[in-house]
Amino acid sequence: MDEERQRLLRQLPDVDHLLQRPVLQAWQERTSRQAVRDAVRSVLDERRRAILAGQWDQPFSRDAFDQAVVRRLQAETAGHLRRVINATGTVLHTNLGRAVFSPELAGHIAGLACHYSNLEYDLASGKRGSRYDHVRELLCELTGAEDAIVVNNNAAAVLLTLASLVPGREVVVSRGELVEIGGSFRIPDVIEQSGGHIREVGTTNKTHLADYERVIGEKTAALMKVHTSNYRIIGFTESVPVSEVANLAHEYGLPCIQDAGSGLFVDLERLGLPHEPTVCEILEAGCDIVTFSGDKLLGGPQAGIIAGKAAYLYAMKHHPLLRALRVDKMTLAGLEGTLQAYRDGTAIRQVPTLRCLAQTETAIRKRVETLWQVLDVDSLPARISLRQVDDCVGGGACPDTVLPGWALAIEADDLTPEELERRLRHADIPIIARVQYNSVILSLRTIGDDEFQDVARIVREVLGI
Ligand SMILES: *Cc1c(COP(=O)(O)O)cnc(C)c1O
Repeated sequence: MDEERQRLLRQLPDVDHLLQRPVLQAWQERTSRQAVRDAVRSVLDERRRAILAGQWDQPFSRDAFDQAVVRRLQAETAGHLRRVINATGTVLHTNLGRAVFSPELAGHIAGLACHYSNLEYDLASGKRGSRYDHVRELLCELTGAEDAIVVNNNAAAVLLTLASLVPGREVVVSRGELVEIGGSFRIPDVIEQSGGHIREVGTTNKTHLADYERVIGEKTAALMKVHTSNYRIIGFTESVPVSEVANLAHEYGLPCIQDAGSGLFVDLERLGLPHEPTVCEILEAGCDIVTFSGDKLLGGPQAGIIAGKAAYLYAMKHHPLLRALRVDKMTLAGLEGTLQAYRDGTAIRQVPTLRCLAQTETAIRKRVETLWQVLDVDSLPARISLRQVDDCVGGGACPDTVLPGWALAIEADDLTPEELERRLRHADIPIIARVQYNSVILSLRTIGDDEFQDVARIVREVLGI
């Protein structure tokens, strides 16, 4: 063995010495002496092997060594459900947890989670209160509805709506709107589950008002519209606007229900996207009950919201399913905070989902250049280029809308793109990226500015720097 390697090996301190380091002492209090000792040992062993193999020629640095041990401890204590960096460019990625919260909102939720709250306590009277009251007024103000209920997700909202209104009777739905959402949520199945029967009308591409009217009879319980969130039928098509379905329903004394998919409180055109009806517009059109998700375009927590006529919601509030579908205080805290941003007119600035969607191509181009600089690409064993990409909304919303974005395309000198993608996914903070045209694509739209340092560090690490 040459002298240089021997010198590097001699520089490595012993385990007990390293355990005295203040950062590692703090970790011993949080975990255990044994856990930190094991982590120090394994990082030391790795370093020793790298020196012997001639792969390490840096002098020993205490700070860098501490950081390596801390990252090892963080990875070991991280748990199964972990934070990831979304480099897919899909804003509402259902596999990656859909909408994210702002740090302020997360702080508010954490504050409530760590303390008792007035979840079901009326502070004014000192008596029992209802968990649904905390967001009811905000929802009514924002949607113009008479009443509102919050349940676990939109699937639950649809189920509760139908279970309380249609058992033993028929729900009329257009054949063009028999939607399946990922995870086997199918409108016909939900209707059957609720105890009702589906009455399909029209054809896949065309449904007329007369098709609805023809089947209305003694057994009809409701007319239902379903937002075709995740697909488009194009060409020779026709569907009946909700206002006409609602008018027809009212002529026969029936409710008109709409599953709106994403709950929208702002006009998407303000974000540069094609118009989609807002919850307010759907109710104004005469619809009696609208259901929508909390964590799609609304940008809040996973929740399902039912908004509409008080008389219909009364039945839902007294249905036994409500208890089974009820939401936790953290969901309500997240929803209230999100709704307040809409009420205050600050949602586009404060709700991360909207902010992410609203980014212009020029703004993303600037950000990709910043990340390029942080990465110091000339020093990397890879070809890295800036590339224009098509990002998407995701979450089964706006399926044919392309969001123009920018990405870093990485082609490593010695790794296949699949291997590079795998290594990024196995990093201490996993980076979820896609492989396209022999490169790994890191789309900037969904990467936060506060994540640049981590992305740069991880990319350097996985490329072996
Ligand atoms: C997404 C969606 C659902 C399901 O909503 P979850 O909140 O995911 O349960 C139901 N209906 C439509 C039309 C949707 O787009």
